Amino acid sequence: MDLNEFKNLHQRFNSFPLSRKEWESKEYRRYIEAINAHSEYENYFLKYKLKEKKIDCSKYCCLKMAYYVSMATKNLLKKDDPDIVINFYSKEKKYGLPIHDGGNSYIKIDYCPWCGKKL
Ligand SMILES: [Zn+2]
Repeated sequence: MDLNEFKNLHQRFNSFPLSRKEWESKEYRRYIEAINAHSEYENYFLKYKLKEKKIDCSKYCCLKMAYYVSMATKNLLKKDDPDIVINFYSKEKKYGLPIHDGGNSYIKIDYCPWCGKKL
């Protein structure tokens, strides 16, 4: 898949709402596989999503951290949603991996799991 084809699929699959037929299509699977296999496409996807959410990426160590933290802090998902894989706990000023047991527990982390920078 070249970049133009990826951008076309990106536009197609980011025009909501999508039908179930679209989510289950071969093209959608190819689009997701392209994001997972090529950092250039992944970065395109992340930048698009962060711009859409009006997230200032400059305060994060990398695009993935900005994207995943924004999923938790922008209340895009419910508090205990398993899709929240990392959070910034502003009261303690610490990054952590939430424990999805219904409470407020988390595992503090000192380094970014994606880029390895000290947090
Ligand atoms: Zn990072």
